[in-house]
Parts: sequence; C-alpha cells; structure tokens
Amino acid sequence: MILDDFSLAGRTALVTGAARGLGQGYALALAEAGADVALLDRSDCSQTAAQVRALGRRATAIEADLSQTAQAEIDGIVALVVAELGRLDILINNAGIIRRQPAVQHSADNWNDVLTVNLDAVFFLSQAAGREMIAQGGGKIVNIASMLSYQGGILVPSYTAAKHAVAGLTKALANEWAALGVNVNAIAPGYMATDNTAPIRADADREASISTRIPAGRWGLPRDLAGAVVFLASPASDYVHGAIIPVDGGWLTR
Ligand code: NAP
Repeated sequence: MILDDFSLAGRTALVTGAARGLGQGYALALAEAGADVALLDRSDCSQTAAQVRALGRRATAIEADLSQTAQAEIDGIVALVVAELGRLDILINNAGIIRRQPAVQHSADNWNDVLTVNLDAVFFLSQAAGREMIAQGGGKIVNIASMLSYQGGILVPSYTAAKHAVAGLTKALANEWAALGVNVNAIAPGYMATDNTAPIRADADREASISTRIPAGRWGLPRDLAGAVVFLASPASDYVHGAIIPVDGGWLTR
C-alpha cells in the first residue's frame, strides 16, 4: 500500500544541527515515520533526543562543531553513527549559519565561517555517508538549500554563495550516485520562523515586506517541512534524484 512506501521503520538517520529549529523538526518527523536518529550539533541535543525517545525510537547525540571538524573527523562521525545505530540510511545536511553584512564590508571571517559550515561540511559529510550508503546498496541524502539557492538575498553574499553551491552539489552527487541506489535531493525552505530569521522578523518593515509577499500569508514552521523530509528519506522517492523541492508557501512562484 502506498503509505507503506513512506515508512522509515528499521531505518537510521543522521540529522545535523538537530538541537533546535528546523533540524529538530526534521529529526522528529523522521522518528515519527519510524527511524532511529543520530542528532549532531555543537549545542546540547538532549531535548531533541528526549522527544525522539518519547516517540519510541532510539536517539544518540553527537556533539561536534562542523566549523572545526577536519575531514578525518567527519569520516569518524559516520563511523560513530554506524557503531551506535547499526547502519546509516539517511543523512539530513541541515546545520547552517548566516552572517548579515553588506558585500563591501563582508569580512573574510564571515565568508569563511559560512562557507565552511554551509558548504564544506555538507560535501564532506555527504562523501563519508555516500561511501557507506554505496557499500550497503543504497541510502538517502537530503541537503537543506534555501530561497537563496535561487535568489540573491540582501546583505548575505556568503550565505547566498553557499546555498547556490548546495543546489549544484546536490545535482552533481545525484548524477554520480543515482545508479548506485543513493538518492541525493534537497529541500529549499522558504521563510521559516526560527532563530536564524529572528533578526529580520524583529525588523517590522522587513517582516511586513516578507510576509505580505508569501502567497500562503504566513511564515513557515518546522512542521511544514515534515512531509517533504519524510518523502525524500523514504522509498516513496526512490526515483527522485537531484531535485530541489521548495517548501516556501509559494514564495518562488510570485
Ligand atoms: P537555527 O535555528 O539557527 O539552528 C541551526 C542549528 O544548527 C543550531 O542548533 C546550531 O547550533 C546548529 N549549528 C550551527 N552551526 C553549527 C556547527 N558549526 N556545527 C554543528 N552545529 C551547528 O537555524 P534554522 O533556521 O533551523 O536553519 C537550519 C537550516 O535551514 C540551515 O541550513 C539554514 O540555512 C536553512 N534554512 C533556514 C531557513 C529559515 O527561514 N529559517 C530558510 C531556508 C533555509 P547552535 O545552537 O550552537 O547555534
């Protein structure tokens, strides 16, 4: 039956940036669908872990800072998930940061910090997970893109560059790994009410200019992304490769 194709029973997932915000939402959605979940963050993931366990699933917390993590340590993260949960079927590359500063002043630190977490870590974690998934005959990688994978944004050149690159990387990996049973796709969330967007929601003019432009008439919430992440993590998406799915209240169609 079709709903069985959306089940993640017996699967294991690794979600980065799972302590709060959208990453916490992805972790809970995957757990609701039946997956055991490894929660990676530089912050304490115990709250997310407790919620995953309350859903009857196993959770393991991995404390790691993806801005500091060398490639060998990233390989070690995947090995740790396999050791703790038995296998790795699903990787959600969600951890991300944003630095708002005009292009003429945008510092090298801001540029490098954003590219390291939002792009380098996505590639090297995908590489490590991809090796594991190819060896076991399949897997699902979901990258988190953005409206700024399509548009330029305001005051965020490093973030826009990284998110455009995430879209390209998603397609490049999909081309290599589709025939090997590994699906690589992305979700492009619209404007979501999380800590990441708190500064622009606190600016009344910016908030109004954004919310009036969203056809759905409201900012998104972590739960709005649950269906897309379960779809892309499940057998229901086995023939979907290199897609970047906007979940944006219609923002891009406007
Ligand atoms: P958020 O509320 O700021 O949460 C990000 C999470 O990632 C936090 O738990 C954070 O830990 C963790 N993290 C950040 N840097 C890390 C690092 N170096 N190593 C390990 N963990 C790290 O952000 P969000 O709004 O949920 O966004 C999640 C993803 O969605 C990002 O990739 C973002 O670009 C993307 N996105 C967000 C929106 C939006 O409107 N919110 C829209 C499109 C795309 P700390 O608590 O220690 O900071």
